[in-house]
Amino acid sequence: MLPASVQLRDVGPRDGLQPEAPVEPAARARLVELLVAAGLRHVEVAAFVSPRAVPAMAGAAEVVAALERHDGVTYAALVPNDRGAELALAAGVDELTFTLSASETYNERNVRMPVAASLEQLEAICERAGAVPVDTVVSCAFGSPYEGEVDPEDVMALVRAVYDAGSARVTLADTTGMATPRRIDDLLDLTGNDVGLHLHDTRGTALVNAYAAMLRGVRRFDTAVGGLGGSPFAHGAGGNLATEDLVHLCDDIGVATGVDLDALLAVSAWLGGLVGRPVPSRVAAHGPRTRRAAGEG
Ligand code: ZN
Repeated sequence: MLPASVQLRDVGPRDGLQPEAPVEPAARARLVELLVAAGLRHVEVAAFVSPRAVPAMAGAAEVVAALERHDGVTYAALVPNDRGAELALAAGVDELTFTLSASETYNERNVRMPVAASLEQLEAICERAGAVPVDTVVSCAFGSPYEGEVDPEDVMALVRAVYDAGSARVTLADTTGMATPRRIDDLLDLTGNDVGLHLHDTRGTALVNAYAAMLRGVRRFDTAVGGLGGSPFAHGAGGNLATEDLVHLCDDIGVATGVDLDALLAVSAWLGGLVGRPVPSRVAAHGPRTRRAAGEG
């Protein structure tokens, strides 16, 4: 049975813009404001990472400082370590998203430490964060570009360790688009449905995976406006599930998102201008199903 509503966390200003040529902090803050105006209530606004490693995320504190605060709106920032958490908390974010990986090699490439060291960082971060919730995003939860198959039992063991370290929530990430509905089912059988999902469309399965997860009662999804994004540390990662593609589906099947699709499509078009090319979202390209272009059969 489908849930009555789902909560979307738009990761466009972070994950979406991460592999792009650097965009000024003021324009990234503008993107966040436009998303909030379109109805998004949860936005990952920045990453507190080394600007040398990820030049597109430089100026994270400036982005946060430029944001207007709104009741009921949560601004999250990604942190790879305790130093990043310290900076993000000082900037005044509402939630930390901490990233570690079910793949040892990916963890080494992405955050330059073994998974065990990431867990130690997480413990320190949760202690430091106090009342600010930490959502741990377990990347490569459905497969690794380096190690291939990842055993759901191993992912579940990591999920347990993440909660033991003090994480408030867990999000399972399909970093390189290796999930299928069958793999979603296999992992949810172990974790239960009180998890977030962060899906990538590398192999065209992001939307069908989201649908499969909703049928299992999952209610939290990371999506990126326009379907931009992809890890710079995983070759051919492919874009995130596009926010407008999921909203478009949810609108038609009766799952509330709180997002105004027309307003979001305007943001998506604006974003295409910002990055200098049309965004990958299918709904952005073709319009909602009820909008028939002239001459279309
Ligand atoms: Zn992503």
